[in-house]
Amino acid sequence: MKIGLYGGTFDPIHWGHLRSAEEVREAFALDRVLFIPASTPPHKRGQAITPARHRLAMVRLAVARHRAFAVSTVEIERAGVSYTIDTLRHFARSAEKHTYYFILGLDAFREIDSWKDFRELFPLCNFIVTSRPGSRDSNPFRGTSVALRRLFCYDSRRRLYRHRSGTQLFFLKLTDLAISASAIREKVRRGQSIRYLVPLEVEAYIEKNGLYRGPRAEKRSS
Ligand code: ATP
Repeated sequence: MKIGLYGGTFDPIHWGHLRSAEEVREAFALDRVLFIPASTPPHKRGQAITPARHRLAMVRLAVARHRAFAVSTVEIERAGVSYTIDTLRHFARSAEKHTYYFILGLDAFREIDSWKDFRELFPLCNFIVTSRPGSRDSNPFRGTSVALRRLFCYDSRRRLYRHRSGTQLFFLKLTDLAISASAIREKVRRGQSIRYLVPLEVEAYIEKNGLYRGPRAEKRSS
């Protein structure tokens, strides 16, 4: 099977995440997209994050009605900071020999050289870098470090980047949906509507559990 691995904080999951997963699934004919909520994302250390059980519950609600979408708790079950290298090693080691595609936004890719063991990420699976709203650039390597660029060469015939290990990196332009989790949290805090920014089930979950509300919402503690 061809499986997409879609990591994120998902605090909360929104239509921007879901639509991009769907466009990637279709463009690459993936059999499954696994949403992988982070336990403690390294780049958000120091920021308060909603407890994992709530973020996981919202992801489960959001993907429940899509046959090809599923959730992996691999990062939530692993103690400590959620490093992508550990997650990709986990899937690379798995007995089932699927072809994996790690999906990440252009913003995240452009700082990937600050991730733990970043050189060791690329031999583990293929990568799909997706556009972020407002970015017109179709070259994911623009503005990245020489150390990162030197790991890949461009195959202009197939319009993909090849890593020296043989894995591939693709860029996919998505429909621009300028939705962000931080803007959603801010709206809830201000008592504004978030309808049509998140699935109805997620909206109801946020309401029922009082997430992102009140004076303590700024410092969402566990
Ligand atoms: P925050 O606003 O809290 O930073 P976020 O909405 O960017 O959160 P994350 O969970 O940090 O969500 O993102 C997970 C992945 O989803 C990242 O690869 C990010 O680039 C991508 N992503 C987030 N929002 C969108 C969107 N509106 N369209 C396409 N991709 C998105």
